[in-house]
Amino acid sequence: MNDQDRRAFMRTSAFAGAAALGLGHWPSAPSRGELVADLAIRDVTLFDSVARRMRPHQTILIRGDRIAAVDDASAVPIPPSARVIDGRGRWALPGLIDAHVHLTHVLYQARMTGDEILPLWVAHGVTSVRSTGDNVPAQRLLQHWVAAHPDLGPRIFPGSFLIDGATLDHPDVGWSLTDPAQVVPFVDDMAAWGVSTLKLYVGCERPVGQRVIAEAHARGMAVAGHLEHYHPRDAVADGIDSLEHIYTIADFIRANPADRHSVDLASDAAKRLIDQVAASGTAVDPTLMVFWGTLFFADQQEVVEHADNALVPRRLRDYWRADNPRRFKDFSAGPLSIRQQTFRTYQALTGMLHRAGVPILVGTDAAEPQVTPGASLHHEMALLVESGLAPADVLASATLGNAKILRQDAALGSVGVGKLADLVLLDADPLARIDNTRRIRHVVLRGAPLSPSTVLGTVSRE
Ligand SMILES: [Zn+2]
Repeated sequence: MNDQDRRAFMRTSAFAGAAALGLGHWPSAPSRGELVADLAIRDVTLFDSVARRMRPHQTILIRGDRIAAVDDASAVPIPPSARVIDGRGRWALPGLIDAHVHLTHVLYQARMTGDEILPLWVAHGVTSVRSTGDNVPAQRLLQHWVAAHPDLGPRIFPGSFLIDGATLDHPDVGWSLTDPAQVVPFVDDMAAWGVSTLKLYVGCERPVGQRVIAEAHARGMAVAGHLEHYHPRDAVADGIDSLEHIYTIADFIRANPADRHSVDLASDAAKRLIDQVAASGTAVDPTLMVFWGTLFFADQQEVVEHADNALVPRRLRDYWRADNPRRFKDFSAGPLSIRQQTFRTYQALTGMLHRAGVPILVGTDAAEPQVTPGASLHHEMALLVESGLAPADVLASATLGNAKILRQDAALGSVGVGKLADLVLLDADPLARIDNTRRIRHVVLRGAPLSPSTVLGTVSRE
């Protein structure tokens, strides 16, 4: 055990101790009387995430936390005891999923805990989140918090510690694996903790990464990678499930390897790598928001003062501001015009990958600086439309595509009989204008209709 492993172990023990002291003994979930009656959303325009189109005049009947019926409005009898929401003039989406979040990392530096921000996702219609690297026992505590506050927390699909090389980039959530022989006990441990996604990080080398992918798949888990040493060409050949952040591709097609702003999309190398990713079936999760909010433009007033940032507790915003100079110094030393050009190149590459047939995920990297939990998913969707994806493709990615990468598409990501009843009800058509996804009337979470402003009101301003 090296020193950093020891620190991680100590931290794990501290969380286990907190659980033993009582944090683990949650009261049973508050009684949710409204769930006794069925809920019907009558005559709504429903987004079909499989066909990628709207279906008008649909009625959705919800019983408990599941969808009991969905069909043409005339074909679904509504029980007299049901609570009815009039869907006329409204649009329904499957609950949104953020494919790239952190629930302890980042917050750790701000001395905050995930329960302080979980309602922000719910209030924005994000009913599930995929962690891509966090402290593992702490995520269990957050799942307990959600079980006790089912109207305030999204479904949490836990991520592993960040699997790094000999040196940990992030000691608060990193885990060093340098020898393939260390992989099996680690993956067994993550499986026993109920982790969904194993995350390979920048220092991970191919022999370890390859072994992690094989062992994870053998246990029904997926592997995501933010890679620097392990070439994405090799990772997709080895069967990795998703590449995180568009620069996990862009950084490997630079004209000048020393300059991250020299990405050459017209090169043979770019064409070859895009073809290799497309042929592999691996998904790409561009997380354009972390480049916009944290890495490229954090010295710009419209980013630091963006209205979405006002939604997070002041302590998180203070940490963001204090951390900004450190976070973007490598990226943003150059003139603004160069950074803007690179951001447009990242968007163009995202469009090229989409046209080549690569599944695009919708993730944000919240709660990195200026990447506001919940709101940032809507901003990411707008950036993806700007990158050349059709709104219907973006909505399908943010629902069914993200559910598939979690291996949860049998229960989440589409609206069908027997699926979990997570929905977003909008006052305007998101296919006409992607920003209309922000015009949320109700969020249905675990079968319960929620008011976004009520949920938002539970988040501390301090
Ligand atoms: Zn991340």
